[in-house]
Amino acid sequence: MASLSREALQQENKFVMETAKLIEKEILSSPPTRKEKVINFLHPQELIDRVDFKLNESGMNQEQLLKLCKDAIKYSVRTSNPMFVNQLYHAADPYSLAGSWLTEALNTNQHTFEAAPFFIVLEQLLLREVRSIIGWESGDGIFAPGGSIGNMYAMTLARHHKYPEAKRKGLAQCGHLVAFTSDEAHYSIKKSANWIGLGMDNVITVKTNEFGEMIPAELDFAMVKAKSEGKIPFFVNATCGTTVLGASDSFVAVGEICKKHDVWMHIDAAWGGSLLLSKKHRKESLKGVELADSIVWNPHKMLGASLQCTLFLTKYQNLLKECNSASATYLFQQDKFYDTQYDTGDKSMQCGRKVDVLKLWLMWKARGTNGLEHLVDNACHQALYFQSLIKERPGFRLVIPRVQCTNVCFWYVPPSLRGQEETEEWWKELGKKRLLLMYKLEETEESFLINFCLIIVYLLLVLFYFSV
Ligand code: PLP
Repeated sequence: MASLSREALQQENKFVMETAKLIEKEILSSPPTRKEKVINFLHPQELIDRVDFKLNESGMNQEQLLKLCKDAIKYSVRTSNPMFVNQLYHAADPYSLAGSWLTEALNTNQHTFEAAPFFIVLEQLLLREVRSIIGWESGDGIFAPGGSIGNMYAMTLARHHKYPEAKRKGLAQCGHLVAFTSDEAHYSIKKSANWIGLGMDNVITVKTNEFGEMIPAELDFAMVKAKSEGKIPFFVNATCGTTVLGASDSFVAVGEICKKHDVWMHIDAAWGGSLLLSKKHRKESLKGVELADSIVWNPHKMLGASLQCTLFLTKYQNLLKECNSASATYLFQQDKFYDTQYDTGDKSMQCGRKVDVLKLWLMWKARGTNGLEHLVDNACHQALYFQSLIKERPGFRLVIPRVQCTNVCFWYVPPSLRGQEETEEWWKELGKKRLLLMYKLEETEESFLINFCLIIVYLLLVLFYFSV
């Protein structure tokens, strides 16, 4: 950066402080109430007309910049509004937010120990702690930019585990590799297959039962069939907390099948991984989790860490480095003055990597493991309560009769469609009403329960942090 005069530097710092004050005033000290809108919704062109998005030859003054910051707040979704019940995330935990700010202010790069000594050590230790919560004595891990990328790490690692030579020579000489996942799993598994060059059609989807859990016998059958066709199973994705129904696959049964066929078992616990922290709920939802070869967990979902915060973990110690390293000599020299094992950046797919660990660590330190457990248990409790309300409410109907993870899925049947035969036409009509209702809710403020209908088939009850 070009050097600045003292005055210019002071001016710039003043702007940072003004922005911080704005955040304090508009977001932190006056979080929106239930009466306020979650968003001042404008259609794209209206938004373009309303805000000065254009980049100019000359810079703006600070007053104008501050006005733009206010616009950003004004036209953004207020995730701290108690009526914000969108899927999977919520306003950030305040300690996590502080961690994010500190991270941004330090703006360092998590590739080498010399660039990020504190964070490299912290990442290693925190990942070790989580591995021990899973039940692994050793292993490795890395923070990834989101659960989808975490799942891609898993698929790549599984390929490397089976065919290390593919790193240099490509997939062509591996034979016809196929991966397996349930039909309720997250779409990022298919995206991963695309990214690693496997091809989406080589992800075989396995049937689920009425609760959205993978049927182990179907998995076994699909693997045997694939083998009989000359294909090579190498990767199974099991899910803890499917995105819609919140289902957890049976890791014990899936683990046994993977062992039998010598296939990598990955658990996508992006959503349900936070249940690891609950003694009560991990028993039901994460039994057999230690059998996995790799796991992805997103504390930015149920736990409320600020986006993005994703842990990729594996029980193999050196595999990440073996699989991903390119040994760039300008960065990862072996003759440095410290232990270069701490230059963990070559394990990553990235070069420059954002620090994502501080925001989780700070909230964990502030709340303690017990505090986090309480947040998770409270979310599960709230989901049960919500389910009981849905059960009693006329016109509302549960999609499945139980709460899984914290997902409560329900239909809202408007009066005009009640008491009729539920034909294919009827379901189509119900779908149309849902769209209409969503549109109306964008326009108006509605009562508490009706607002929940924003996501009719699909609602995930996220932590009510501030009511704990
Ligand atoms: N896995 C599951 C089960 C999810 O629900 C999601 C996102 O909703 C993901 C993976 C992808 O995570 P991310 O949005 O962090 O990429």
